Amino acid sequence: MENLWERSLPLFQQSMKDSTFDRWVRPIRFGRLEGERMYLQVPSVFFKDYLQEGFLDLFQNKIYESFAERYQIVLEVAADDPARAGNGHNPAQSTAPSRPPQPVPPHRNPSAARERVIGNRLSPRYVFENFVVGKSNDFAHAACRAVADNPHRNDYNPLFIFGGVGLGKTHLVNAIGNRILDQHPNLRIVYVSSENFTNEVVSSIQHHKMEEFKKKYRRDCDILLIDDIQFIAGKETTQEEFFHTFEELHHQGKQIVVTSDKPAREIGGLEERLKSRLDWGLSVDIQPPELETRIAILRRKAETFGFNMGDDVADFLATYCGNNMRELEGSLNRVMAYCELSQRPASLELVQELFQHAVAERNRKPTIENIQKLVAEQFNVKISDIKGPRKHKIVALPRQVAMFLCRKLTGASFPEIGEKFGGRDHSTVIYACEKIDNAMKQDLNLRHRLQTIEQALNHPA
Ligand code: ADP
Ligand code: MG
Repeated sequence: MENLWERSLPLFQQSMKDSTFDRWVRPIRFGRLEGERMYLQVPSVFFKDYLQEGFLDLFQNKIYESFAERYQIVLEVAADDPARAGNGHNPAQSTAPSRPPQPVPPHRNPSAARERVIGNRLSPRYVFENFVVGKSNDFAHAACRAVADNPHRNDYNPLFIFGGVGLGKTHLVNAIGNRILDQHPNLRIVYVSSENFTNEVVSSIQHHKMEEFKKKYRRDCDILLIDDIQFIAGKETTQEEFFHTFEELHHQGKQIVVTSDKPAREIGGLEERLKSRLDWGLSVDIQPPELETRIAILRRKAETFGFNMGDDVADFLATYCGNNMRELEGSLNRVMAYCELSQRPASLELVQELFQHAVAERNRKPTIENIQKLVAEQFNVKISDIKGPRKHKIVALPRQVAMFLCRKLTGASFPEIGEKFGGRDHSTVIYACEKIDNAMKQDLNLRHRLQTIEQALNHPA
């Protein structure tokens, strides 16, 4: 007779990705029942640890939900696992030599040239040569190259680069500065984060040094690079100064490059006249990198450290260990440090072990409640509005977005989703999904907002 475990399998299959199911659930064998305990056999210690972290609750709850039987699940490593007695590593690999990370040789540009940069120092590590171009950033990259190669042309002024955290904005804006340093020795570059710009405004006012401030930003500047402009939101005096700086430089045909974490129009607390000016030139966005680009960037980074890693390791890290490049770099650093300290090579087994949590997190589907919460935050409405009856556009759009994401990410059916949105009919959910799907094809801002939410849900598109 089919046992309870086998009868539950289709339920698990429905609630997770096929690849997750094949990898983590299918290999499990039913062992035995002892009172309230259900013993299951898994193929390895790693497998056991991994399931224990991420899946046990899910299994127990699903079985309870479906069969009203509450079992405590106990995992056992099947007797034929070679690593069973040990720590789960293949001992043959642990003595293999590992190559310790080597520091990157920095400083392409002679330091004399760097003195020409006013404000923050440009990072010599961020240059076009080591920026990996893929579908997600090729347009932004091309625009930055064009500006860096022809800073006098003024074709794209200002150049406005926007995109989520860790996607390469700071890298690109530095690359522009570095390239101009190399190729246009006479141009004076001012590079500053908008936070430092704000601090300077404040301290210049306090110490009666506004004249110096104006000289620096308006007269002694040929290229203005401002990183993370969103931070001047809500700061009136700083915005006023930025506005006049902008006007003056733009009028003189001086190139301005600005980065932001969102489109100018969506920066809350930014004056209208600034929003419109930031839109005057060319606006380019950077999207989260696709898997291939993530792998390529990781490889490039590993190479600069002289660090050896196989395709399987790069693939694993790019898949599970970070949605943006900053997180991925952090993961790579962790692997390099670990390999060095433990004198082990970077094997797939090792990274799987190091990042068990990340894998579990990535494979767990977001819940409808989670999605509602994040969408409400992103659109600045209440969760009760999203579930409630109001039909006004201000709440209808986020509601439709939330429905769309629930359908896309949770695998819940239309009626199930309708139920969780204040008992709406399934046809309303279908309509919402179609509407958002269409709207995204035309509306760049909407697409960007959805991406931000998906990223926050740890499910990059
Ligand atoms: P942002 O400013 O958008 O938050 P950063 O420019 O600081 O992101 O990028 C985070 C890290 O990822 C940096 O170390 C950067 O060099 C790296 N990075 C991001 N995109 C790329 C890319 N396309 N190629 C190479 N490195 C990248
Ligand atoms: Mg940045």
